[in-house]
Amino acid sequence: MSNFNEKNLSGNSKIAVDILSRTWKYDCMSCAIAKGKLELPGGLIYENDYITVGADTEIPLNGFIIVATKRHINSIADLTEKECHELIYYIAKVIKALKELNIVQEVTVVQEERSKHLHVWIFPCHEEYKKMFGSGVGSIKAICKYVKDNANKENVQTCLSTVQKLKEYFKED
Ligand SMILES: [Zn+2]
Repeated sequence: MSNFNEKNLSGNSKIAVDILSRTWKYDCMSCAIAKGKLELPGGLIYENDYITVGADTEIPLNGFIIVATKRHINSIADLTEKECHELIYYIAKVIKALKELNIVQEVTVVQEERSKHLHVWIFPCHEEYKKMFGSGVGSIKAICKYVKDNANKENVQTCLSTVQKLKEYFKED
């Protein structure tokens, strides 16, 4: 749980150790997820022809969810009209689910073009971390480091339980 690597957060590294301590090798993390070569903790929450929805691989932060395109494209500007619709629709659905399931009541949404494969972070703003690190984009790096460095089995179980709840929620689509 040490060795925090900033590159892991942007999906540019070639090796990841996930929250279940499994090691994955990949050229592009989002492509590996889309092709089923990297199994996310708890499995994919949802997928269709255009997008995948899953919990973050490496940070055991409850409700930290990532929506990625299946195509290896870099920018929101590269999306087709259909992909635009799917991406925003499922981002909205994740946020709605997190609130309705009472996992978190506020999120920060982030997309960085420095990552080679388009993915969007839906980052949960839990009160306990807001008190410790503040809120918004500026606090994300510190929260991720803290959560990763201090994770215990209970945190991991909570994340996995949330994945199961979200899977059920998405089944009702
Ligand atoms: Zn890719």
